[in-house]
Order: sequence, then structure tokens, then C-alpha cells
Amino acid sequence: MVAVAKIGLVLFAVVASACGATASESTGSQSLPLNCPCSTEAPELFSPNVFPSAPPMTPADETQAFSTPELQQLVSSRSASSDWRISLSVEDSHIATAVDLLMTTQLSEGFLSSLEGLGPSASIEFGDLPEFQAASVEVEESLITVNARYRFEHPVLLAAVLAHELVHHDEFNGRPEEAIALLVEIITLLELIHDEPQVLTSGTELARRQATNLLLAVFNSERLTEEAVVPGRVEAQSVYDALPYAQTSSPGLPLLEAFLTVLGIEADESTDFSREVVERVDTWQLMPAALDSNGIERLSNALRLKPIQR
Ligand SMILES: [Zn+2]
Repeated sequence: MVAVAKIGLVLFAVVASACGATASESTGSQSLPLNCPCSTEAPELFSPNVFPSAPPMTPADETQAFSTPELQQLVSSRSASSDWRISLSVEDSHIATAVDLLMTTQLSEGFLSSLEGLGPSASIEFGDLPEFQAASVEVEESLITVNARYRFEHPVLLAAVLAHELVHHDEFNGRPEEAIALLVEIITLLELIHDEPQVLTSGTELARRQATNLLLAVFNSERLTEEAVVPGRVEAQSVYDALPYAQTSSPGLPLLEAFLTVLGIEADESTDFSREVVERVDTWQLMPAALDSNGIERLSNALRLKPIQR
């Protein structure tokens, strides 16, 4: 049984060295480059780029598609906090459910504002993208494209992908914005898996990308990165390391303001994606902001984390 220590504002003492050593001993591969109290008995939870003994990843296939009643059930068990119906073209039922799910989260008003910002004829659809790219946003086309390889993935996972893209709904301005987008993705995921953390352990490619992202952000924020979880890429470049090279500062947006407010960081409409703002975000705030202690324990159990001490 995994126990979770109380969550407080104390700095986290990572059990990294023990975890890494165990990984080497039990698998014979290089040590786990992730300061995570993860069980090395579950390498299939993570990306092979982070957990070298993990098997190759494959996306969910047709047999894992959701039926219409299942999709309705996913949303009806949660309450939407806003009347969000706007003119938005979404033909795929998995994506439509993902958008519905976003509107049940604590960042719903921010998501709604970003969707409206995409324009009156905005659309979200599956399409061909490079393998490494989960989704893209084309502001001038008012279009968010989700990689078609994720067509049958769980709508909760798709919702987290969309949450990320909605941070990019206007002009993209560098690494600070990317770091915040990753964190908005993660806090949304945490909130949506509150009652069913097993969504993250289904073993599909997107589940493993999301689980790896989450663990990197929460346990190893100095390596917060997209590249670590991208199929086919090995080198991870830290978003934080890249911050000094950011050339511009993106204008603020309501979604950023909502995200910072949830974390207890003072923000208003003038708050932008400056390096200072990103550095104020402690990724350890993410789990308590999205989950109560029962939720954290359920997640820890589902991910087979060792006791978390902080
Ligand atoms: Zn991004």
C-alpha cells in the first residue's frame, strides 16, 4: 500500500537516488533520468525516452474507441460551470467530449475565453501531424488540429492536449509560454482524472505521454519538457533552461490569469508570459490545487508511486 505524506508548503525531498538505483539494478538498463518515486515494476506507464526499459508506445486503436453513451457518461458525471456554447465546429464525438470536459474544470472560463479568441468560425479536428506533435493551433485559420493517431484515445487525455493548445490561441511567444502551456495541460489532466486516475495507466501512447509529462513536471520540474515524451526523440531540453533565450513576452490572456489564480499567485489581465511569472510557478502547487488528499493518494496508487515525502 502506498501512503502519501501530507501535502504542505515544505520543499520536496526527492527520493531520486534510491529510485534511480533501483531502476538500474532491476532492469540492467541505465538509471531512470527522472526524479520520480515511481515503481520500476511498471515501465509500461512511461515513455521509453524517460524510462529506458519501457516498451515502444502505440496509440489507442479502434477497439478502444468510446461509444456515444460512454462519452455522455463521462461528461454527465461532472457539472459544467459555464454556459459555454459558442459557435465552434467540432465533428468528432471524442473531441466534442473533450471540449465538454474542459468546461467542467476550474479553468473553464479561461478555456472559454481562448476558444472565443480563436474566432467565431473556430474548429477543432483530427488531422495529419508529425508523429511527435500531439496537436497544433493555427491562429489565422482559427483551427486546432489534434494528431489523428490519437483519434481513439480517452477524451480526458484529449482534453489535456486541448488545454495546452488553448494557451497558444494567439501569437506564440517562446519558451515561457510553452512552459505555462505544459503546466495548464497537467493541472487540467490532474483535475479530470481525480475520480479515475486509471485513465493514465491504460498504456496507450497518449496516456504514457501524459503520465510522463505529469511526473516530469511534478517531480523534476527543472527538466520540464515536451521533448522527453515525444516518440523518437531522446534528448530532453529543459524549458526552464531555455528561458534566458526567450526573446519576447507574449501578451497575457484570461487563461493565464485563471491558471495563476488557481495556484494562489496574484494575477490580472496585464500579467504576461514573462520569465518572472513562469519562475513563480512551483509545480508542487499543481497537485494540491487540482486534487484533494484522497485524490493524490488515488493517483499515487494508480501510478504505483512510492511514498511521497515533501
Ligand atoms: Zn505548446
